[in-house]
Amino acid sequence: MRVAVFADIEGSFGIWRMRQCKTGTGEWQYGRECLTEDVNRVIKGAFDAGAKSVFVKDTHDTGFNCIRKSLDPRAEYIGGHYIKPTFFGDVLDCDLALYVGIHAASGTEGAFFPHTHFGIFSDVRINGRVVSEMDVYGGYLGEFGIPVGFVSGEDIAVKQAAESLPWAESVVVDKKKGAYTSGEKSVEYLRKGRRQLEEKAAVAVENISRMKPLILEGPLHFEVTLRSEKLLGKYNSWDFPRKDLTVEWESKNMIEGFDNFNKLTFFPKKVYPFRRQLLFFMRSYYRIKNGYFYPKPNDEGAVRLSDAK
Ligand SMILES: [Zn+2]
Repeated sequence: MRVAVFADIEGSFGIWRMRQCKTGTGEWQYGRECLTEDVNRVIKGAFDAGAKSVFVKDTHDTGFNCIRKSLDPRAEYIGGHYIKPTFFGDVLDCDLALYVGIHAASGTEGAFFPHTHFGIFSDVRINGRVVSEMDVYGGYLGEFGIPVGFVSGEDIAVKQAAESLPWAESVVVDKKKGAYTSGEKSVEYLRKGRRQLEEKAAVAVENISRMKPLILEGPLHFEVTLRSEKLLGKYNSWDFPRKDLTVEWESKNMIEGFDNFNKLTFFPKKVYPFRRQLLFFMRSYYRIKNGYFYPKPNDEGAVRLSDAK
């Protein structure tokens, strides 16, 4: 069995504020260490449960967040974003996806850094229902036959994911600063939490037979609301139909719908013909930049498991 570990960052243990997710900052460098530790636990759980091979698909922002030299060397690594065969690269040979560090959907009241796909959207709906990334990415992977069998993240994000992926194992992650800056108590919390990542990932892999690819039955009517008129002007270069700040399109399935979503989000009409070259350049640039040139980690007083006596 081949297992994919998808990595976002917002829902990692150790992370309590937005700056820790912002590429290039010292706080992000600390956040990367947190994420890498979480990902390693999930990799270990997958191997312990009998996975034959595991790869990590890094997804947040530039797609280069995990610290490669600290990743479990048994796992392969796919950084950055792609066009073919999927937006996530060549992930089609995996049997199961485990999703680390998820966050709540755009518009979720009181949630930590809630957004769906990209921060510019205040609301994303499919067929009238507010959706999270687990609907969009889970539904996209689902059409390729890949089930999502595990999620970790803050309680509300896990709850939203469970509405679409009721079969998935999950680990709830605290997003309060005090959870990570309270000395011995925080070390204990991290120890327990990360052990859960390992255990629940293993349960998911052992129970792959009950994991289902998520299929959102088409046709799919997408409605995405931009946060401002300015953003709308900048991003809707495709002249998708709009009502106020909401852009709409209809697709026969999620693969097609997600392509349109990416046109709106990442590929303005003028750039679209060159999107392959653009992504190739971005991957090469950030592979080097995030791999070799980064600030010193600023943990702002957070504890590490290595602090344990
Ligand atoms: Zn993210």
